[in-house]
Amino acid sequence: MIPRLLIATKNAGKREEMAAILVRLGVAAEVVTDVDWPDVEETGETLEENALLKARAAVEATGLPSLADDTGLEVEALGGAPGVHTARFAGPHATFDDNIDRLLRELDGVADRRARFRTVVALAFPDGDYVTAEGSIEGRIAEERRGDTGFGYDPVFEVGGRTFAEMSSEEKNLLSHRARALEALGRALGL
Ligand code: IMP
Repeated sequence: MIPRLLIATKNAGKREEMAAILVRLGVAAEVVTDVDWPDVEETGETLEENALLKARAAVEATGLPSLADDTGLEVEALGGAPGVHTARFAGPHATFDDNIDRLLRELDGVADRRARFRTVVALAFPDGDYVTAEGSIEGRIAEERRGDTGFGYDPVFEVGGRTFAEMSSEEKNLLSHRARALEALGRALGL
């Protein structure tokens, strides 16, 4: 029997990417989409703690093995910020646009634009067991938004001269921090 798996995120961009990457990795699981679970506050101090908080809240509410991710953008010139605070960079109710505006403002005139996306994925099982894995990608913050695919900081995160938002989803999903984290999870699970 094919196991049922919940992708425990309410961010549609993340969910689509995770589902597509699982298909590419040949993971034989039925991705469940018709259940709901309560939002959890991301109170952890690390990406791993937050990924686990999200996966555990989902498995507790649904009884289904649940896969969650927590992602941080680490900008060299900002000493690794916003890191674990990436979603709230421009405040607790910040939109994707607000966050990008703040980032571009902080890096205005800054020559060193190196940055890294880091993702920790957590897979939590109903018996309390869990596995986590990490993936990251080095890039740079563009001087302005370019491209219209993806979500979040994709229009300003550049790899090899193009932003993630200038790539097709297939291209991003081959090399992204999220893809690398899910590949590492697969290895940890012996898949
Ligand atoms: P969280 O993992 O949901 O806390 O997300 C952290 C922040 O990074 C949110 O603002 C997301 O929109 C953003 N983010 C997460 N993954 C990506 C990505 O792959 N590309 C661009 N932005 C992302």
